[in-house]
Amino acid sequence: MTQTADPAAPHRDAIPSLRAKDYKSDIKPVWCPGCGHFGVLAALTKTLAYLDIAPEQAAVVSGIGCSSRLPAYLSGYGFHGVHGRALPVASGLKAARPDLTVIAAGGDGDGFSIGGNHFLHACRRNQDLTYIVMDNEVYGMTKGQASPTTPPDWAKSKLTPHGTGMPRFKPAAIALAAGAGFVARGFAGDPNGLTELLAAAIQHPGFAFVHVLSPCRTYRPEQQDWKTEVHPCVLGPAHDIAHAAELLQRDDGLALGILYEQRFPVYADGVSADAAGRLADIEAELCR
Ligand code: SF4
Repeated sequence: MTQTADPAAPHRDAIPSLRAKDYKSDIKPVWCPGCGHFGVLAALTKTLAYLDIAPEQAAVVSGIGCSSRLPAYLSGYGFHGVHGRALPVASGLKAARPDLTVIAAGGDGDGFSIGGNHFLHACRRNQDLTYIVMDNEVYGMTKGQASPTTPPDWAKSKLTPHGTGMPRFKPAAIALAAGAGFVARGFAGDPNGLTELLAAAIQHPGFAFVHVLSPCRTYRPEQQDWKTEVHPCVLGPAHDIAHAAELLQRDDGLALGILYEQRFPVYADGVSADAAGRLADIEAELCR
């Protein structure tokens, strides 16, 4: 394990009443054998059990892509929605149901390309959400096109036969610059370490971004090497932005752990009674 979750976790003294398997649905994942997303699913179910969050008290919202199938494999509330729009849906849900543990999840294409704008503003808005991005540096579901995090010289896609030639999107540095108060990186091949990171992220009051290196066995088989390349982030976590920026300037993209943690005021606790009344009026109008 790479990090220790907050020992003051609210539910940790009690014996967890549910186990990881209780958070899995009956639907069998259709991911390719060896896909990193299996490790993320395992870590997330262990995290929810560790924190003793009842399935009906958690909601996982996703966009589109291989990794965005995640909610279907969980037993709690889930929403497999529109490409790049996991965060706006999760934000609306958190505003309407502040009592729920709301987790948004998806891939690098979904979250950093079409959803990139939402990512920036979710970081600075600082609602109490956790955002897990399973990054394999490729669009897997649509058969291997370059994504925002693909290295510029990766030339195996027919759409970019000479590589993209563009610098890569740097998720952790961008989250920091956009105002996120919790930035961490995990590895799907280290489910125990990832469980601790996810527990810390869920317990963080405010927006928590967890960048997960999750290999695509089919279109990026070379990512199997990540097993030997990842390493703990020995310089983190940073608790001030200047230190974090310095750390991320030197980051090789393979350092695991909490990179930055800072507490900021959390955006509005929820929808006011007035607003809830207006929403009910709108709903009644639409359903007439
Ligand atoms: Fe996983 Fe890649 Fe297969 Fe998609 S295409 S399920 S990301 S291994």
